[in-house]
Amino acid sequence: MSYDPSNVFARILRREIPTRFLHEDEHCVAFHDVAPQAPLHVLVIPRRPLRSLGDAAPADAALLGHLLLTAAAVARQLGHPEARLVINNGAAAGQTVFHLHVHVLAGRALHWPPG
Ligand code: AMP
Repeated sequence: MSYDPSNVFARILRREIPTRFLHEDEHCVAFHDVAPQAPLHVLVIPRRPLRSLGDAAPADAALLGHLLLTAAAVARQLGHPEARLVINNGAAAGQTVFHLHVHVLAGRALHWPPG
C-alpha cells in the first residue's frame, strides 16, 4: 500500500497540528503521545514518509538505528534510562497511524507478554 500523506503524523511533521517536539533533528522528531499508556509515552518518528517498518528497505538501516538510539536518548533525558520501545508493524499488530513510529514507554511496571 502507498503512503497516505493525510495521516496525523505527516500533519504533525508539516506543522498543521501544533505539537511540541521533545527532540528534532534532520532525520526524526519526538513528541508526547496524545493518549499516554504510561507516565512516559513518547513517539519517535522519521521525517521520511515510511508507512510502516514493513516498508523499510536495507537502505533505511541507518535511519532505523537512529530512531532507536534517539528513542533511548529521549527516554534517558526525561529521567527514564530503562524504557520499553515498541513498533506496531501493521494493523494486525496494532498499528493505527500509518507513518512509522517507535513508542517509548516508561514510568510504570511493564508486563510481558503485552496485550
Ligand atoms: P499505533 O497504534 O502504534 O499506530 O500508535 C499510534 C499512536 O499515535 C497512538 O498511541 C495514539 O495515541 C497516537 N496519536 C494519535 N494522534 C496523535 C497526536 N495528534 N499526537 C500525538 N500522538 C497521537
